[in-house]
Amino acid sequence: MRKIKELGEFGLIQHLTSSLNFRASDSILGIGDDCAVYPVKSGMKEVISTDALVEDIHFKLSTTTPEALGRKALSVSLSDIAAMGGTPKRVLVTLGLPERVSLLFLDKLYSGFNEICNQFEVELAGGDTVSSPKCFFINIAVIGEAKRVFTRKGAKPGDLIFVTGTLGDSSLGLKLIGKKIKGGKDNKFLINRHLDPTPRVKEAGILARSKLDITSMIDISDGLVQDLYHICKASNVGARIYQDRLPQSPEFARTCGKNSISPLPLLLNGGEDYELLFTLPADGAKKLTRQFLKAKVFVTQVGEIALKPRKVLLELRDGTMKTLPESEGFNHF
Ligand code: ADP
Ligand code: MG
Repeated sequence: MRKIKELGEFGLIQHLTSSLNFRASDSILGIGDDCAVYPVKSGMKEVISTDALVEDIHFKLSTTTPEALGRKALSVSLSDIAAMGGTPKRVLVTLGLPERVSLLFLDKLYSGFNEICNQFEVELAGGDTVSSPKCFFINIAVIGEAKRVFTRKGAKPGDLIFVTGTLGDSSLGLKLIGKKIKGGKDNKFLINRHLDPTPRVKEAGILARSKLDITSMIDISDGLVQDLYHICKASNVGARIYQDRLPQSPEFARTCGKNSISPLPLLLNGGEDYELLFTLPADGAKKLTRQFLKAKVFVTQVGEIALKPRKVLLELRDGTMKTLPESEGFNHF
């Protein structure tokens, strides 16, 4: 296998990008010039975001494969576009490379990028490649489009709160990777939910195309409660959620049971599930459930928005109410 040094910067870019095989049908100019070029669609909004992933903060090379890292790096960026109700269209990838990173590793990383690009029909439209003294990092910028966007602001008292999929799997998967608990046949599913999450692009598309009045939306990256607080703060409202309604996967429930782990903290504060959390007026609930059922997509009503107090309250199984603190999800600083 050749070395990065032998290829040089331009040889490396050429080598890595030659393996990418998804091209958008509307692409005017792809990788190779100073910029990539795309047409602007009238009547559409452009939705853009960027995410940095730093080794040993966002990922550990000892516990993930380069392919899974590539997939996850793109998936979490696509999730931000989905959270706005948009369709991801293109990504730009910046790599900061210390000398110890090998060409084989980068080939596998790009193979992960390529898989997600093909799966979600997203074009890898360019990037930047720089050397980095110690730290390996990846930055992904993502560009999507939307006819209408769903922001964190707009939830109203009486609106119902929904989440897609199940909660807590990713944080339990992370515990399994750290081998702090014993697993079983459910390990693979849970670890995969952590290392290779699915961005809810399809679900966001269903919501965007529906006539439903989605009043607010966010993706759950920091944990249900923390992300619900983001909606509450932006919308100037409070929320009530119900312990009994928090959706659990069978794998999650079994693994918690076997290891005597209390599921509730993971359901409430476990991050990185990348499910969608959104609100809509109660009269839209039936239609929503029907549309998601038809698409075989799992969605659960977990609570409702209230005017006051401007806090997230949890109704426990025994009927008592508890005010949840805001800051138990993930926070870098
Ligand atoms: P410039 O000198 O104008 O910054 P570069 O030499 O960095 O251009 O990049 C040349 C081309 O390769 C551009 O189209 C850029 O978007 C693309 N590119 C650079 N690094 C990467 C990368 N890591 N992945 C994909 N495309 C890249
Ligand atoms: Mg450059």
